[in-house]
Amino acid sequence: FVQIDQITKKFGDFTAVNSVSLDIYQNELFCLLGGSGSGKSTLLRMLAGFEKPTSGRILIDGVDMTDIQPWDRPVNMMFQSYALFPHLTVEANVAFGLRREGVKSKEVALRVAEILDMVQLGHLSKRKPHMLSGGQRQRVALARALVKRPKLLLLDEPLGALDKKLREETQFELINLQDELGITFVVVTHDQEEAMTLATRIGVMDQGGITQIAEPHQVYEYPNSRFVAEFIGNVN
Ligand code: ATP
Ligand code: MG
Repeated sequence: FVQIDQITKKFGDFTAVNSVSLDIYQNELFCLLGGSGSGKSTLLRMLAGFEKPTSGRILIDGVDMTDIQPWDRPVNMMFQSYALFPHLTVEANVAFGLRREGVKSKEVALRVAEILDMVQLGHLSKRKPHMLSGGQRQRVALARALVKRPKLLLLDEPLGALDKKLREETQFELINLQDELGITFVVVTHDQEEAMTLATRIGVMDQGGITQIAEPHQVYEYPNSRFVAEFIGNVN
């Protein structure tokens, strides 16, 4: 479904992503796991089209994305920094993308209400972002990304600001949603446990490269390097 073919991203002399090759299958929930600065967000931004690879290419459904603008890709991305519109209510923030796509008002209202319920924000739909907590804002951003039902949804640390209980509930909802809507997810996280719970497969990133790609239990039981073992926390 998604083929990443030897992509590299350099910022000046510094290589943020180093010749990464990776296939992502339809309907999977692929977790990119790695420490701060390992290149996770940069890789995601290249998938979304916000960052141009220095070399290499990305194919989605066999189509080369090199010259395709972010808004023309079958991809939606939720950023680490949320980027909500401060002057719009929760409801309007979530509806924004659908309106722009020309979805009818009635359907917009239905879909927005459904998704806000799912992230447990129904009761806050008329508020503006500055009247929400960090975790609530994060859920608005998540709702806004989900509501468009893209083929490929990229989530950069989507649950980082949530408390444990809410994070577990939202993880569960994400897994359900994926079953229901058939969205393929790529989720960035630095939380090993989260990757273990969510992922169909995990790609462990270190210094711009992918060190191991495997199913969660394999990464845990058979880490292919000292780095992976230490990162996953299964060092003997
Ligand atoms: P975190 O978990 O902290 O979000 P990350 O894995 O998402 O980290 P990236 O944001 O992809 O890391 O950054 C990878 C490296 O590339 C970092 O060392 C960062 O400083 C560098 N980098 C990212 N964007 C730029 C840029 N626009 N110009 C220069 N260096 C950059
Ligand atoms: Mg990041």
